[in-house]
Amino acid sequence: MGVSKTDSIVIVGGGAFGLSTALDLVKKGYTNVSVYEKDDHIPPRWSAANDLNKIVRAEYEDDFYTDLTIKAIDAWKTPLFAPYFHQVGFLHCVSGAAPQQATDTLNRFRASAERNSKIQPHVVPVNTEDDVRQACWQLDGPVTGWNGYLNRFDGYAHSGAALAGVYRAAQAAGVRFFLGEQNGAVDELVYVSTATAKKCAGIRTKNGRFHPASLVIVAAGAAAGRLVPQLGQNVVAKSWSVAHVHLTDEETSALRGIPVTYARDLGFFFEPDPKTNLLKMCPMGGGYINTDPKTGISYSPETLKESAFLPEADEKQLRQLLKQTLPSLADRPFVEKSLCWFADTNDSDFIIDYIPGMSDSVIVMSGDSGHGFKMFPIVGSFITDMLAAPGSQQPVARWRWKQPASQGKGDWGGDVSWRLGSSKELSEILPAKASKL
Ligand SMILES: Cc1cc2nc3c(=O)[nH]c(=O)nc-3n(C[C@H](O)[C@H](O)[C@H](O)COP(=O)(O)OP(=O)(O)OC[C@H]3O[C@@H](n4cnc5c(N)ncnc54)[C@H](O)[C@@H]3O)c2cc1C
Repeated sequence: MGVSKTDSIVIVGGGAFGLSTALDLVKKGYTNVSVYEKDDHIPPRWSAANDLNKIVRAEYEDDFYTDLTIKAIDAWKTPLFAPYFHQVGFLHCVSGAAPQQATDTLNRFRASAERNSKIQPHVVPVNTEDDVRQACWQLDGPVTGWNGYLNRFDGYAHSGAALAGVYRAAQAAGVRFFLGEQNGAVDELVYVSTATAKKCAGIRTKNGRFHPASLVIVAAGAAAGRLVPQLGQNVVAKSWSVAHVHLTDEETSALRGIPVTYARDLGFFFEPDPKTNLLKMCPMGGGYINTDPKTGISYSPETLKESAFLPEADEKQLRQLLKQTLPSLADRPFVEKSLCWFADTNDSDFIIDYIPGMSDSVIVMSGDSGHGFKMFPIVGSFITDMLAAPGSQQPVARWRWKQPASQGKGDWGGDVSWRLGSSKELSEILPAKASKL
């Protein structure tokens, strides 16, 4: 049974997927939409998108996502999203010391860019160190052995600012927002059973209040498994680290317009943010998980404090990246360091579907797999398309609910081709406690 345009729809999570969905629902004429978000402001600190910027690159190894990103980039260029989109290009390389796996991955991305008629004209080969400097003259490090390509079709989006912009637009369009630990944090989905069926009747917030809904959409990012335990091992809370270098006004200006610079075996950085003078960096790797020994399921930590550090190995990798590209910054302290949590799946596909056996009363929108932000302008339409589809079924087969395996640890860091290295447990990399002396 489908939801009507006036039925009450509750979205749990005011991050990238939740906000995009709220906006698309009101745009399509749904009049009773509420978002519950546990932080007291948007962008929420728990959102994986609460960040200066995210890469928007169109080429995927898998043409399905390439085609979607081309659509998303068109949408990034519309008035609501354009202020946050910067088509500065994507310098995608491996260093001379890269393992074969990194080179193979790079080559698959390049092949994808070159076989797509929309992207191909924007691709420039980068075969030598001089080509790297030609692509971005500001890189005055040795870039030893770097090679790859520059794709001028790609760029980045100012992610935290885009969340705030869509929040304002959704609010103006009539979406109701409930924010904060008491009113916005959702403790549980409330289910009711009749003799013939079970359904989700609404949500209960931390303050104990029950909020009825005809449809609940869980868009809780890395925390999805806490609210929807039925996901089992199909969604793994995983994190990568993020760190920043604080620049002077002059340094920020000198780096204006640089492409997103990415060595697959080291990591990447973005054009510095002119408001804060911060240059954001991420190392690439298998990431970190936080497995509960009782359930074998990885959950994101409840507090932000537990994630407020940069693992030692990542720091080394990022310093190496700076030495190779911007050596004058290589010894500068890193600031605003954190682990950023996302919802990983074993095939990198999203999970956007009704939870089975719940009379179409609850949808899970998860499994962003660390590549979902680029879809921000269109990801909400994946929900409205599904609501409009016949037969209460997700029309995109690869996003349908999959029955979780009853056993086995859900960690697929090294098994996903576009990531390098295996995942580590958070408990193994926590910094040693500071001495009290
Ligand atoms: C380090 C890092 C780098 C990334 N880089 C890129 C990139 O370059 N390009 C790209 O496209 N994507 C990138 N991503 C992925 C992108 O950030 C995510 O795909 C996107 O944020 C997923 O959106 P979401 O809404 O599912 O989750 P989130 O944005 O994390 O939002 C989930 C929200 O749910 C809220 N919530 C959770 N539990 C509850 C509850 N019980 N009650 C109420 N609210 C709750 C949280 O507070 C949060 O605001 C990256 C992710 C990470 C971690």
